[in-house]
Parts: sequence; C-alpha cells; structure tokens
Amino acid sequence: MAGTEENMVIKDIQFEVRSFRFEEPMKVAFATIVDMQTCIIKIITDEGINGYGEAAPFSYVTGDNLETVIAVGKELKKELVGLDPRAIGMIHRVMDGMYAGNGPVKAGIDIACYDIASRAAGLPLYRYLGGNDPCIHSDVTIGIDEPSAMAETALGWVQKGFEIIKVKLGEEIAADAERIRAIRAAVGKDIRIRVDANQGWSVKDTVRISRILADLDVDLIEQPVRAQDLDGLAEIKRSTDVLIAADESCHSIYDAAKLAAARAVDVVNIKLMKCGGIYNALKIAAICEGAGIPCMIGCMGESTLGNLAGMHLAAAVDNIKEVDLDAVYILKQEDVYGGYDHRGGRVTLWDTPGIGCIVKGE
Ligand SMILES: [Mg+2]
Repeated sequence: MAGTEENMVIKDIQFEVRSFRFEEPMKVAFATIVDMQTCIIKIITDEGINGYGEAAPFSYVTGDNLETVIAVGKELKKELVGLDPRAIGMIHRVMDGMYAGNGPVKAGIDIACYDIASRAAGLPLYRYLGGNDPCIHSDVTIGIDEPSAMAETALGWVQKGFEIIKVKLGEEIAADAERIRAIRAAVGKDIRIRVDANQGWSVKDTVRISRILADLDVDLIEQPVRAQDLDGLAEIKRSTDVLIAADESCHSIYDAAKLAAARAVDVVNIKLMKCGGIYNALKIAAICEGAGIPCMIGCMGESTLGNLAGMHLAAAVDNIKEVDLDAVYILKQEDVYGGYDHRGGRVTLWDTPGIGCIVKGE
C-alpha cells in the first residue's frame, strides 16, 4: 500500500541488537547485572521519515528476552507493514490482538512510531505530546554493596552534581538500615534519598525499617514486597509516612486501576518497557492522576534512546512528578548519544524534531 499526503505507511521494521556494559556491575535484590543487551528498532516509512525505538527486555521483570523480542517483533511486523505509524491506537490494537504481554517489543515499536509522528510534525517529542518545558530532574541509582562503598559512590554522584540518590536495598533489614545510615552521613541532609527494595522485604520487615528510614529522611520506598501483594502494600502504606511506590506491581492500565482501587500505594513508577510504550504510559499516568496518585518514570537499563523517550514523556505529562531515568549515566554507550544536555540530574532536552538522539552507523 502506498502512502498519500494524508496517509504515511510503514514499509519495513528492522531489529538490531546492541550491547551496553554498566560502568560498574549493578547489584539489586534479585540479580547482579553486568551488561544489557537491547534491540534498536528502526521503522522505515514510504515518506522518507524513519523512526527509532528500543526494546530492552529484562527477564526478571518483563518475562521476555532478546530472542523473544526479535521473534515476536518479526511476527508483529507482518501485520504492521502498510499501516500509518501515526495511527498509534490502531498500531496497539493490532499488537495486542496478536500477543499479550511482551511490553519491551511493543514499547520499541511504539517509541519508533512516536519518533516518526513527532518528526513529521516538526516538533520535539515532548512538544508533540503537549509539553512546553524541556527540563526534568532525575535521580541516579546505587546498587547494593557494603555500606562504606555505597556511601563513597553516593558522595561521588553528589560531587558530580546529582541531588537525588536512589538506593537499591532488599536484603536483611538491619544491614539495609546501615547502608542508608552510611549514605546519609556521607551526603548530608540536603540530598534527597529514595530506596528500592525490588520485592526483597516482608510486610513486617518493611514496617520496621520504614521507621528507621523516616528518621533518616528517606522520601520514598519502592516495591518493598512481592509484586502481587497489594494488601501488603496497602498495610505498609497505612503504617508509615514514607511514600510507598509500586514498580513491579504495575505493568498495565489494569494494574494501575487495581492499585488505585486498593489505595495500595502513594506513587506509581511507570516504565515504558513494562507497559508497552508511550501510548499506554499516558493512560496509566491519567488513571493515577484521577486517583490522586503521582507517577514516577523509571527505566530498565535501556540505552540513551529508550531513556530519552521516557524523558520526553516526563517533560510532557504533569502527573509524572519524579524521574528515575539514569541508565544514561551508568551505562557505557558510545553507540547511541545526544538528545539532551545535563548538569548532574538536571536534564534539558534538545529542541530537535522527534526523540533527537543519534544512533551510530545510521
Ligand atoms: Mg524499581
């Protein structure tokens, strides 16, 4: 099918694997991660406007891997070729009609479609999504280690200008409390600290450690208990003043609605790789807004490309109040670059049309 002036169509979708190493191995409650392999997705249209997206599977959370991303992506391509990439609702209906789940590959295709649509409109993606201000403020994440090593790492980030530190926890709570004591002592009282237990604690452990974390001026506890335990999250939320956030508990609009109905959390962490891209992220942010729940946007270790899509979304959506898009600082990635400038965690997006990053070799 050829495109007309009103109708641009997808001619081809290409999948290319790229590897990125972490600057330092990142230990979280369920794994130690040394490198990330992601899939760069290129959508070619009949009008000479091509778009780039990224699928970064993370089997522990999204239940898929690079092989399934490419296998499913090639099946999706058969039905997507010939469709207008700007008809994003239709693109998602087709993808969801073929495969349940598979957030990362759907996100990669979705991001590439939004890249095309915003390039075609001549607007940077955040403006295409209705935003006005290109500035956002991200934290940076520290993996699990000995308290003194974590304190040193935290101080290093603060000296580089970062003002919000996210700390991976989720081990034995006495040791975890020591980690935060050491970090707080190193960085002083003006740095915001949030923690992520990645489902590593029980409800009772979380209630106990939340008292210590409140005294150490910790802002927020992310995903303390198992993803499915909404009652547990609600019990924890009622017992502490520290904000409780869902991450692994929220993959979809349906999860967001359940979390809202159960009054289980104070904050929802949206990730494009969990929910299948920008189209669904916008819906989750809206569901949460209606329930009085602010959102955070996080990442899975995708490259600059995937992180930038999240940055544009954060800049565009009022109810995305917190930003946890730090893979750009902790992965070595000479292959994909540009699109933003930053001083510490304070990011300013470029005003170039689309997502705005440069993929080496393209
Ligand atoms: Mg998390």
